[in-house]
Amino acid sequence: MYFVKVGDKMAVVVSGKTLASQIKGNLTIKIASLTKKYGRAPHLVVILIGDDPGSVSYVKGKEKACLEVGIKNTTIRKAPDISEAQLLQLITTLNEDTTVDGILVQLPLPKHIAADKVIAAIRIDKDVDGFHPHNVAALYLKQQGIISCTPKGIIALLDYMGCEIEGKNACVIGRSNIVGMPVAKLLLDRNATVTIAHSRTKNLAAITSQADILVAAVGKPRFVTADMVKEGAVVIDVGVNRDLNTGKLCGDVDFIEVEKKASYITKVPGGVGPMTICCLMENTLECYLKHMED
Ligand code: NAP
Repeated sequence: MYFVKVGDKMAVVVSGKTLASQIKGNLTIKIASLTKKYGRAPHLVVILIGDDPGSVSYVKGKEKACLEVGIKNTTIRKAPDISEAQLLQLITTLNEDTTVDGILVQLPLPKHIAADKVIAAIRIDKDVDGFHPHNVAALYLKQQGIISCTPKGIIALLDYMGCEIEGKNACVIGRSNIVGMPVAKLLLDRNATVTIAHSRTKNLAAITSQADILVAAVGKPRFVTADMVKEGAVVIDVGVNRDLNTGKLCGDVDFIEVEKKASYITKVPGGVGPMTICCLMENTLECYLKHMED
């Protein structure tokens, strides 16, 4: 079913929402039985600093998902003037709390706080985001570690759509530590031939239009246009942008035009986003199991 595009047929729109809800259904059953076995549910603590509307909405999504699957959630809200030392102290306390399995600090942080210092302060076995340098290194060294949620969710989506990754040309637009780089590494580990494009890439369209699998993680509304996409490509849109005209959410891909050219495509919202949250639930369970079984 892959890469075959018959005539003018539109791409199959792959719903991350549907897949996430299937995975969450399985997680719910598993977590209920583990909670019985170990006498407590997995516990995720989210630290939210300030009231940035994007961050507040992401945290709400995480709270909702925890409730759905039976993970205990605590959101700690702090004022934006919290000092770096106070935040680090809070993390130390949570690191030492044996009833806490996962710690997530919602990014971005206020400018006076060094995000890398904060991330590195989280215990590696509670780093549900997989951003700690140890977990990042584990990914690159192919060692056991926690894989960050969005890249993990993207690979799950490709598997769900039956997309064969091995031997394919994959292009990732974007090289951030949280999306572009790790998803490129995961694609490489699945034996794709991977190109990473970025803001200094020359002749971007010539490169992207060679890709059987195109992942857009740029953060620019409708950046990927149909002329940049190979006929029959699988297109994963990671971007979450606000359309300046309509005020609605939109992705990095010009969905209406690219849908006519791709074989499979994800939509924003409802594509990668729900998978990210779902993988956060999986990572929290992974940390909990480590704590319960060690
Ligand atoms: P980021 O850190 O801002 O990285 C953006 C990347 O895009 C950079 O590597 C940048 O290149 C590249 N880029 C910018 N302009 C470009 C251009 N003209 N041509 C080619 N590449 C260009 O963003 P991010 O954190 O990776 O996030 C990317 C998008 O995904 C955002 O919209 C974000 O909101 C979204 N996101 C969604 C989820 C989800 O769960 N759905 C999760 C995380 C992020 P340089 O490195 O050269 O600057």
